[in-house]
Amino acid sequence: MSFHHEQLFIGGAWKYPVGSERIEVFSASTEEVVGSVPLAVNADVDAAVAAARQAFDGGSWSSLEPGVRADYLNRFADALAKRSEETAQMVTRQNGMPITLARMAEGDGPVGLLRYYAELARTTEAEESRRSIGGYGTTVVRREPIGVVAAISPWNYPAILAMFKIAPALAAGCTVVLKPSPETVLDSFILAEAAIEAGLPAETLNIITGGVEIGQYLVAHPDVDKVAFTGSTAAGRQIARTCGELLRPVTLELGGKSAAIILDDADISSAAKGLATASLLNSGQTCYMSTRILAPRSHYSEVVDAVTAMAAGLTVGDPFEASTAVGPLINQRQRDRVESYIEVGQAEGARLTTGGARPAGFDRGWYVQPTVFAEVDNNFRIAREEIFGPVLAVIAYESEADAVAIANDSDYGLGGTVWTTDPDRGLNVARKVRTGSLGINNFALDIGSPFGGVKASGLGRELGPEGLSAYLTTKSIYQFDTE
Ligand code: NAD
Repeated sequence: MSFHHEQLFIGGAWKYPVGSERIEVFSASTEEVVGSVPLAVNADVDAAVAAARQAFDGGSWSSLEPGVRADYLNRFADALAKRSEETAQMVTRQNGMPITLARMAEGDGPVGLLRYYAELARTTEAEESRRSIGGYGTTVVRREPIGVVAAISPWNYPAILAMFKIAPALAAGCTVVLKPSPETVLDSFILAEAAIEAGLPAETLNIITGGVEIGQYLVAHPDVDKVAFTGSTAAGRQIARTCGELLRPVTLELGGKSAAIILDDADISSAAKGLATASLLNSGQTCYMSTRILAPRSHYSEVVDAVTAMAAGLTVGDPFEASTAVGPLINQRQRDRVESYIEVGQAEGARLTTGGARPAGFDRGWYVQPTVFAEVDNNFRIAREEIFGPVLAVIAYESEADAVAIANDSDYGLGGTVWTTDPDRGLNVARKVRTGSLGINNFALDIGSPFGGVKASGLGRELGPEGLSAYLTTKSIYQFDTE
């Protein structure tokens, strides 16, 4: 089945693009073209931003009562829920995400997020009054939507990461121009159909297509008020430079190289089982993966054996099979990159304990076997650089303090895990790790709590009430007492 679209979703309706070039999307598992859509040009971006500007400045979205916006968001969620299976299948067809994960994260996830932010829109007070500290009156502190949002999303979790931005932005009263990744642009057309069915006021949500150049043009557009980006640290730095020059607020969710600290009291076999998702979810193409496994020297070989057995036991296969745990990587470039890191690891002197090659029996699809390296030093490149594939490095530590020091000795700080049979000890260690989020005995995002990074993993937070605040600005109105 192939999916083709002739128009772009701008101003609440389908519009023919200004240019005639197209984006072809490939299946990561079959390497075949699975669909194509128009490639936007700058004039399409101008039209999309102008539409979003109009809906913001004209008040057709920004001035609605929060409860009315919440009703729209719930209708949007209903329309998306009907398309949940279609979305999951489309994501799997594009990026090769195992279908069981796609159903949960990409099919159902965006629906849940819309409902969560609909509720927050309803319950978050827009104004509060404070007695002025100087005693001369009252200050009304208003939370107002920040304006037109440029949202840029990556290919690894295209539907949910777009919704990390769209849901809180719309709940806050902002309007949005989304630019998905060209590798996974097709599911955003399903999103547009849901927006139309939900009757979102025209111009509230706009979607443009394209790669780096269109993204750069959107980020720097004079009528954009805020940028929300998820992607690589390199692109994030470039976007931050542009936003710095323009003094434009920006949220950046970037890369990671998180640590799994296996404490000496951990149940090693259940930790290894948990690492199948905490370290290798979506074939390792998840930003918060615990890819550095820190093992106590006293139990080092047990940990290496357990992690090796776990990785070797994962079912690699067709992402549409419910039993598949590891599918292909997104494209040939990414597989080349992962394979080059496997060579680097061997050249650095790390010991390959499983994987390291393409799995047998696949003549199509960008597959790499789950791979584990032992005897890794934290200074090796495979321990410092984000690989973004199914490659783990097991590093020995001497003491709990040493484990924390190694976990913190990274340019990144996005996720991480602690594995222990003592929850209090786990919490104590977790408090010492410099990171934006951390799991004890596994890792799963909680949409009600903030997620984001420190250091090279990004700026700002998404999810939770904090994710809503990212789309609000405050205004203080000083009211003087009258005699
Ligand atoms: P990428 O940076 O290449 O692209 C991300 C998006 O930004 C795409 O839509 C792309 O077209 C666009 N883009 C790229 N350069 C741009 C620029 N200079 N200006 C404007 N737009 C630009 O990332 P990717 O390869 O799609 O995704 C993988 C990366 O994303 C990994 O590094 C991963 O760790 C990171 N990621 C982070 C999180 C998080 O929440 N922290 C989540 C998922 C992925």
